[in-house]
Amino acid sequence: MNDVAQRWSALQERVTRACAVVGRSPTEVAILAAVKTQPPERIVAVLEAGAHLLGHNRAQEMAELEPRLHESWPGTWETHFIGALQTNKVNQVLRYASCIQSVDRSALAERLSAAAGRLGRTVEVFVEVNASGEETKSGVQPEQALEFAVAVAGMEGLRLRGLMTIGKNSPDAGEVRAGFEEMARLSAALVSSGMPGTADAGELSMGMSTDLDIAVAAGSTMVRVGTALFGPRTR
Ligand SMILES: *Cc1c(COP(=O)(O)O)cnc(C)c1O
Repeated sequence: MNDVAQRWSALQERVTRACAVVGRSPTEVAILAAVKTQPPERIVAVLEAGAHLLGHNRAQEMAELEPRLHESWPGTWETHFIGALQTNKVNQVLRYASCIQSVDRSALAERLSAAAGRLGRTVEVFVEVNASGEETKSGVQPEQALEFAVAVAGMEGLRLRGLMTIGKNSPDAGEVRAGFEEMARLSAALVSSGMPGTADAGELSMGMSTDLDIAVAAGSTMVRVGTALFGPRTR
């Protein structure tokens, strides 16, 4: 087994353990491989190991990688965009991604909705929330998250899957947990809001290599993992 395949099984075991602690089934938690800066052969290795969700951070990198991956791997996977997205990159990104996890402002949501109409397809989205309150992080503020998510859920051509966040960068597990728990409360409020397009928007994309166990305990349904799968990024 190559190192990526080994890390993939170790990661699955880790998610299973994190689920067991809180009595959840590991089938409730999807693993998205965050592939930024990885060469195609390492990404193919993770697909061969069983991954079926890839997340890209940069439009350019995604446009270079995705065709090469399709050349070297006959299987299928679902491509998500998880990085900061400029409105002028929307069309490029939608050539490859079925889901945009980083919807953090109206202008972007409107562009995506218009593009979906033009392309005659539905674009899946997550609303990104800045639950940690760190200034360097993107995402809508938690106080605005419900209103914004409801607006996005009602937009033509978009299907809101849920909420996404990047955990607080803190050595204090309690602080990290508090952010994830706030996300879980927002998610519950969204799903029970009764507003159009929200009833099925219960997914929670949260948890990365360092904090996924805490995120799973708080209700994450999708962890986005780079380092724990591929090793430290060199670039
Ligand atoms: C890089 C990245 C991840 C994965 O981070 P790791 O700490 O390497 O697991 C997850 N989500 C987003 C948005 C990222 O940019």
